Amino acid sequence: MEPIQASLKKWMRENKNFQENFNHIKKELLRDPEISNILSNNPEFTSSDIDKNLMKLYEYRSQSKNCADCPSLDKCINMLPGYTPQVLVEGKDVHLTYDKCKKKIQRDEQQKKETLVKSLYMPKDILEASIDDLDHHELDRHDAIREVLSYVQSIGTNKAEKGLYFYGPFGVGKTYFLGAIANELADRNISSMLIYMPEFVREMKSSLKDDSVNTKIEYFKKVQVLMIDDIGAESLSAWFRDEILGSILQYRMMERLPVFFSSNYSLKQLEQHLATSNRGDTDLVKAGRIIERIKQVSKEVPLFGLNRRDL
Ligand code: ADP
Ligand code: MG
Repeated sequence: MEPIQASLKKWMRENKNFQENFNHIKKELLRDPEISNILSNNPEFTSSDIDKNLMKLYEYRSQSKNCADCPSLDKCINMLPGYTPQVLVEGKDVHLTYDKCKKKIQRDEQQKKETLVKSLYMPKDILEASIDDLDHHELDRHDAIREVLSYVQSIGTNKAEKGLYFYGPFGVGKTYFLGAIANELADRNISSMLIYMPEFVREMKSSLKDDSVNTKIEYFKKVQVLMIDDIGAESLSAWFRDEILGSILQYRMMERLPVFFSSNYSLKQLEQHLATSNRGDTDLVKAGRIIERIKQVSKEVPLFGLNRRDL
């Protein structure tokens, strides 16, 4: 470093404009409360030490600290957007390090969460649902909330294996419950896949054309937590019921992987519904088999109360 410093000094001596500029910057810097604070904490710093570290001090002063001067992360004014400078004086040297600012930490956490909660066709309010917002005021919801809390508490213990099957009328918040659980799981680094059943059926049907059905089935079999929203919302073909849903549930049952559901039907009612395929054929045995699997991977929980869409 020395030769550069020396030649810089020589050059500075020769260049009056530069010298003037330098002095101007130095004066301004010394007037700055943050910089004078640093210097007063380091009284051994001489004027030539300041000269030597002027660019570092200048850089420190020009950067926004802890987001103070940035309206948002996207409009961050720092050299390294999303990073805030820390100054460290060691002997006669000033060091600058850059740490992630609070806004960037927040954004990164949010993005991580988004990669953990995967979904197919889920509205934004559901993806932002939180367990803290589950409304405790309605008596009708207490059992369901208790089940959610008890599930959450059991995560990571060997008691945790079954998901929950929420059923109840339209609009009471069943899907919201699923979203809230998915976000809670993401906070614990567990990934989940939340799918809206009618779209799931369409997705699988259209995958038949490009042969990606098996890849998708594999994915739904193996994702850490699977959530099927609105099962029973439409009548299924025997193919979908037995080959797709049946095989995914069979796998998850064997591997003890949880599945969450929401439905307008209780399991008893769903059995009737699944017994009739969309062509009108009836097969109670096959429907019973699906219901058995659902019971193995989840616990049935009623959810009643007010229709929140009318609130
Ligand atoms: P369901 O699936 O039972 O038909 P939803 O979960 O879709 O009902 O809820 C209906 C509406 O009410 C949605 O817009 C949802 O975001 C909202 N909602 C449900 N529960 C809550 C809650 N605890 N806090 C805020 N909004 C909620
Ligand atoms: Mg719903």
